Amino acid sequence: MCDTTLPEDSGREMKCCLTHLGILHEALDINYLMNVEHVVQFLNKKYVEENQQPDKLIAIERRLLRCGKELVEKLKNQEIRLNPNLRLISEKLQELYYDAGNDSLGMIFVQTRATAKSLAEYLNEKLKGLEIPVKPFIGSKNSETADGLSETEKKELLEDFRSHKIKLLVATSVGSEGIDVPECNIVMKYNYSGNEINIIQMRGRTRKAGGQAIYISDQSVLRRDLVSMEKAAVMHRALDELKKKGNDEIRTMILTEQKNDLKHQEDEERKLRDLQNQKKRGFFKLVCATCRKTEILGENIKLYKQNHHVAAERAFLDRVKKEDIKEEKINQMIKKSIIYCKQCPQNLGKIFLIHGLEVPLLKIDAFLCKEGDKLRKYKNWKFVPYIIDEINHKDLEVIFPKSTTPEES
Ligand SMILES: [Zn+2]
Repeated sequence: MCDTTLPEDSGREMKCCLTHLGILHEALDINYLMNVEHVVQFLNKKYVEENQQPDKLIAIERRLLRCGKELVEKLKNQEIRLNPNLRLISEKLQELYYDAGNDSLGMIFVQTRATAKSLAEYLNEKLKGLEIPVKPFIGSKNSETADGLSETEKKELLEDFRSHKIKLLVATSVGSEGIDVPECNIVMKYNYSGNEINIIQMRGRTRKAGGQAIYISDQSVLRRDLVSMEKAAVMHRALDELKKKGNDEIRTMILTEQKNDLKHQEDEERKLRDLQNQKKRGFFKLVCATCRKTEILGENIKLYKQNHHVAAERAFLDRVKKEDIKEEKINQMIKKSIIYCKQCPQNLGKIFLIHGLEVPLLKIDAFLCKEGDKLRKYKNWKFVPYIIDEINHKDLEVIFPKSTTPEES
């Protein structure tokens, strides 16, 4: 929409861009659920907030504000179209409160704070005749955003809700998380997709009072929710099944599961031992799986600490290219570079710094194993049918001398 290339990567510029992106994201959510006039109201308010000290704005802030204001002007000139969902929601609420009595308590869940505020304002006006005061119930204030409720405000709001001074809350998930919301008999979700736990909680909030939970969503949110509801139903069924069983039966089930687990583990270990025992001594070499040119003799591959397969040949480093990566410490070793075949782009393994030595470790699936004139591919070192001798740190030091200065200088 507007060209906002950053002249340089400075913190304030980045923050300003993020703020404006956040504003537009919320505006889109409002646009989806409310009328255009609500988007305009929201954007106007936001841009006034952003423009509180106009003489202190930096260039990009001024530019983004200008773009924002242009957008507001364009929206103002748009043909006013009422969002059918909005009418649906207020009609449905009037019906629900009429059926359940206007002393009922209700909650509507929406995705963003801006929508919560905007919808609460709208419904407060619409439901005035029924004497149903509506308030937004949103997350805490933080440094990023000025609109939020303080803990005291939240507490007061909930007290008003419990005492039926407020009868309908429009909440975001953060607003209601970890808070003991009173039982309400009307719960509505307005294009708000929670996970299955959320849905169970939602049902829980309405179940006792014999109330209703209503979902108003577009197709994609609805589809997601149906999946969540199906999962919730499976969880409920599983819980019900468990409840039917006595403690002894549950204990037996757990024990059986544990036994099966243990047996599976033992089977795996036995298979591995068998593989190990079947290993033999023999002549083989590994060749690059892609170009088949770069190779290393089997006798030059050694096993370090039972786990790492070292290309224990100084000259091997001349047959590969190194590309340094961000160092990462794994146990006592530091991941330092990736090694590539010099003849082709095949990634052959990594160089690790082991107590100051640069040691190339090979990944077997980058190679083909040449045994006589047969070429075999192994996915894992444990399947390679040859005995590979161990190497200790002293021997590594002989092959890869410790250097305190960079090698090529
Ligand atoms: Zn290659």
